[in-house]
This record gives sequence, structure tokens and C-alpha cells, in this order.
Amino acid sequence: MSTNKPLPTATEISAPFWNGLKAGRLTIPQCKSCGHWIFFPRRHCDKCWSQDLEWKEVKGTGTLYTYTLTRIPTLPDFADEMPQKMAVVELDEGVRINTTLIGLDEGEVKVGMRVKPVFDTVKSDGTALLRFTAADKDFPSRIDSTPAALAAAAEAEAEPAAAKRQVRCDDEAAMKALVSDTFSPWSNQIVVDQALIDEFAKLSGDDYWIHTDPERARKQSPFGGTIAHGALVQVLQSRLRIPLDFEVVGFTNMVNYGSDRLRFPAPVPAGSRIHAHSRVKSVEKLPKGMQLTMEIVTHVVGSERPSVINDLVILYM
Ligand SMILES: [Zn+2]
Repeated sequence: MSTNKPLPTATEISAPFWNGLKAGRLTIPQCKSCGHWIFFPRRHCDKCWSQDLEWKEVKGTGTLYTYTLTRIPTLPDFADEMPQKMAVVELDEGVRINTTLIGLDEGEVKVGMRVKPVFDTVKSDGTALLRFTAADKDFPSRIDSTPAALAAAAEAEAEPAAAKRQVRCDDEAAMKALVSDTFSPWSNQIVVDQALIDEFAKLSGDDYWIHTDPERARKQSPFGGTIAHGALVQVLQSRLRIPLDFEVVGFTNMVNYGSDRLRFPAPVPAGSRIHAHSRVKSVEKLPKGMQLTMEIVTHVVGSERPSVINDLVILYM
């Protein structure tokens, strides 16, 4: 699994900081001449200009200097993190660090609050980001947010299937009673990563750069990065298990008639997690059997606008 979220590029000067995070340690440079702590990492002390610096591990405790909540993703890739809680934390050593807050409800975030570090592994090679949470929160100091780990966690959280009501397909009244304006609970979540998009591009022959060239898409795409093919997200509905509280029984044949309506209202940026929910939109008794139209709506997790709307038509015979 991979993500196209921009990740830090370690330079010769900053590498000790990023390597420390990978190991769950916060290290920052200190001036050996005057004792001043330095951040961001650089070659000289910004107080006395000495170049005699030393990397030191610090506890990472500090106070929240300021923050902002972003309601619109700073890049489409961050749609699954809404609202982003972007913050500046002042460490007890006096340096300020740009960061994001985690494990806090919006109402719990207060300027001046005590905070502690959270080392968040975001990539399978161990790349970690430094986030912060409230000092008095019972929140792990190291977490795994790699797309694979997030998908596995969502899977584990999915509610066990409740006993399903059985509805006979030839019972017109019972079938029509399934029609509802209310959507089912959400399905499991899956990650639509660049590798999957590349596979689909190969299979379908649609290898347009907006899907397959992250570097060009970052610069030229209106979406700020690559996006999945609408058709790919549509077929991924097969991997999403939507918890329905009924089961149609009593048919000898079930035919997928295609779609009455298929729309792709919002893009799915590479690296997004998606999930779906559905409702029975209509039921019609036809001479050959009972026709059921199921509205299946797929969203990027956390995004209000649907990515795929599919009115799937099924005929029970
Ligand atoms: Zn100094």
C-alpha cells in the first residue's frame, strides 16, 4: 500500500530529526557554545552563529502555541483527515514546531494547553511524522497510520452482521416495504492506492496521466494529484460489504441488469480510503420477475460529497 500524500524529504542537515522520529525519539540540535536550542535544523546557531551544534534527545513535552482547523483539505490527498488540526507547538526547550494535533475533539483544543508527542508511522518504510496530543490524554505515543494498518483497523471495527430478515422475492408487498429513503450503515473501508490505479490503467488501457503520473498531476491536475478512474471506484463496490438488514430469498436466478444511473460527482485521490452505503430505491413487479433498484453511494472516508452514485438494477426470477 502507498499514499500520494506529500512526505518529508530528509536533507543532510535534517536527516537526524527524521531518523529519530522513525525510532520514536524526538531529537533537536543544541548549540554547544551558548546552549541555545535550534529548530528547524540548520547548520548554525541562530543566536550566536556558532557552527558547533549537537543533536540531543528531548522529552517532547510543550504547550500549544497556536492552531487552526482546516475545513477544506489543504490538498485533495488529505480529504480523509478533515478537519486537519494544524498547530504550532512550543517545546519546553523554547523552540516552535509546525505540526498537527491528533486524538483530540475540536472542543478539547485550547491555546496554551500542555501537549506531548505522538510518533505516527505513515509509510511502510518506517517514515514517521511528529504529531502532538494533550499531555493528560490516554493516547499511545507511537501509532501506525500506514494505509494498510488503517484499513485493517477499520475492518476489525466493522460491526458483526446482525441476523438478517429474509424476504421472498415473489412477495411483492414485503419487497416493496424494503424501499426506503434511509441509507444502510457504512461498509468496510478499502484503500485506493496508486498501485491499484496503475493496475486498472493497464487492464483498461486508460493510462491518462491524471491517473498514472503523480508528479505531473501534482503540478497540472485541478485535483492537485492523481485520481482513481471513476470506473475503478465503481467496480470496487464488489469489495465493499454493505451491512444490509435483509436478504432476498426464493429466487432461482438473479440477474444484474446494469445501472439506471451512474455518476462520478467527486474525485477519489490516490491513497484515499473509500466506503459505501446503500438503500433500496425502488421495487417493481415485472412479467419476468421482481426488479429491485439499489442505490449504492461510495464516498472518500470523511468526505461529504459522494464519489460514485450507482443505481444498480437487479432482477430476481
Ligand atoms: Zn549558540
